[in-house]
Amino acid sequence: MWKALRYFLIITALAAGAAWLADQPGSVSLEWAGYQIDTTFGVLAIGIGAIAVLSALLYRLWLFIVRAPGSMRIAWGSRKRNKGFQALTKGMVAVAAGDAEEARKQARRAEGILSDPPLTMLLSAQAAQLNGDERAAERFFKAMTENNETEFLGLRGLLNQAMARDDMGEAVALARRAHRMKPDSEWVSQSLFELQTRSGQWLDAGVTVREAARNKHLTHENSRRRQAVLSYQLSMNAESSGDHAEALKQARAAVDLDATLVPAVLGVARSWIKTGRLRKAASMIEKAWGRTPHPDLVILYSDSRAAKNLLEVVKAVERLAGFNPGHVESNLAVARAALDADLWGQARTHLDAIHENDQSARVCRMMAELEEAEHNDLASSRKWLVQASIADPDPAYVCGDCGNTVRNWHATCDNCNGFDRYEWRVPPHAVRVDKLLPDVEPIDAIEIEDDDSVTLIEHNSTDIIDTQIKPFSAEK
Ligand SMILES: [Zn+2]
Repeated sequence: MWKALRYFLIITALAAGAAWLADQPGSVSLEWAGYQIDTTFGVLAIGIGAIAVLSALLYRLWLFIVRAPGSMRIAWGSRKRNKGFQALTKGMVAVAAGDAEEARKQARRAEGILSDPPLTMLLSAQAAQLNGDERAAERFFKAMTENNETEFLGLRGLLNQAMARDDMGEAVALARRAHRMKPDSEWVSQSLFELQTRSGQWLDAGVTVREAARNKHLTHENSRRRQAVLSYQLSMNAESSGDHAEALKQARAAVDLDATLVPAVLGVARSWIKTGRLRKAASMIEKAWGRTPHPDLVILYSDSRAAKNLLEVVKAVERLAGFNPGHVESNLAVARAALDADLWGQARTHLDAIHENDQSARVCRMMAELEEAEHNDLASSRKWLVQASIADPDPAYVCGDCGNTVRNWHATCDNCNGFDRYEWRVPPHAVRVDKLLPDVEPIDAIEIEDDDSVTLIEHNSTDIIDTQIKPFSAEK
């Protein structure tokens, strides 16, 4: 609208100017190089205007000719870069798809087209790895660490390589360098922590955990749990090197951080019992029993109550069971103590209370022991032993990652090096046979042969399972 109005005004002004010039004829006389020009002022003005327009057009043409090579170079360069980026993209897609040959082809193409090593080096390294050439990949990763923009990516590549070949020293050094570069990177912090715990650098791992907590990579609870586990591992190390004071200090720190860490509770209680602080030990075990009853607490509790004979042990264990009444471990603990003290009735009461719901191997073994000791009923005892052989195994420390099962707790898994992965529970790999075979009927009768073999006759079944079982007393 305004543009049209402006043109209209310009044209009107020009027309008015021309009309005005036509109305003012005047005369101009020019004499130059033997020529004489006589004309009106209007014609001279138009002539000057025409020469100005022509000069402007010629200047534009000259500029175009002078600038043409540069513009062509820019256009060609941009096309080349586009091709380079295309090769990069195709290469990355090939890496993601695991196409080693295509990745290498596109990496070379991108390298040839793009004169920008930081961009192409990562692709070249990944393509080399896909082709199984770890040395070439290492060269690329190392070159990347020399460039500010790609240093972190290069370090990450080298770190993964060091971890893959189990070179812990090199891996820790690289992780530290990466951590200095990006202290707030969660990936680096976690990798550094894993490497430190795998290589037994417990104190350094503690520093990493506290830093991770400050950077909000860990919740408050997770951070305390990790620090508790690290402290108790340090306590175990101090104990094995004879530094009992340091061992107690670290174990107490572990319990303060996480009172559910039973191995640490046991460590503190053991140390207190050794130095005669029995009341403190007993009180700590009672609290732990209320939270997380664990069979290892029972033996220490009897010591902390200074039980001098088997009857006093039963009394002590009954008192401990009172801190978690009705719990399977409470019943089992009293039953065990009662069996040892020949208190058959009491043992049976506690076993009856659990074996309806819990027919684990340890319950079956205790029932077998009771049947033989109380009534000398060998048939019943052996029946329970057979049950024990197919029952859930006894709880142990089981790695939540790889299923590795051990009796004694450790901060890292012996098999997969996972940190704080041991849980006290029934091992998963041993499943009860009758759960695997839904058609198996409960055992109806047992016949003991002269040669000590036992024949199990299943309910409503003509199938007979022959098995050789040692008598209970022999096992004991
Ligand atoms: Zn494991």
